[in-house]
Amino acid sequence: MLKGRDRHGLGDVIAVDRNYVPMQEVSRRRALCAVVSGRAHVLNPATFERHRNFESGLELIIFPQAQACSDSKLLLGRLERRVLRRDHYTCQYVGCQRKATTVDHVVPLCQGGSTTWQNLVGCCLPCNQTKGGRTPEQAGMTLKALPKGPRAHLFERFEELLRRASAA
Ligand SMILES: [Zn+2]
Repeated sequence: MLKGRDRHGLGDVIAVDRNYVPMQEVSRRRALCAVVSGRAHVLNPATFERHRNFESGLELIIFPQAQACSDSKLLLGRLERRVLRRDHYTCQYVGCQRKATTVDHVVPLCQGGSTTWQNLVGCCLPCNQTKGGRTPEQAGMTLKALPKGPRAHLFERFEELLRRASAA
């Protein structure tokens, strides 16, 4: 069963920092390496206590020396490319299936919008030009989904793991 989950990328282990803030997903192999080398410990997701023996479950590990970087730090670097990758290079406006080649500020800079993950979406050039300096509402356009920050998926998985563990 674990084999199948691994194959689908769902068997990944969530790594939390010393404050129990999720940092990233790691493969079981990397998690085991970190545990065996003493850099990380296995946690029981139901109690957050350390497992003595990781055979009893390897879903959550803690790096007691680590501290997750803030979302603002994740903004550094090639933000536009990362936004496009998040949006699968597809225009994020409803009714458009074109390839996203530009990044659109949902709330335009000229209307006080910021350059953050939550205010940027992948957008094709025609949609971007149609929308211009307007909000989606002003332009009569709708987003396919609310843009999420880079860690939203990780936090969703973390919460799901805790729900599952406490229900078991
Ligand atoms: Zn478009």
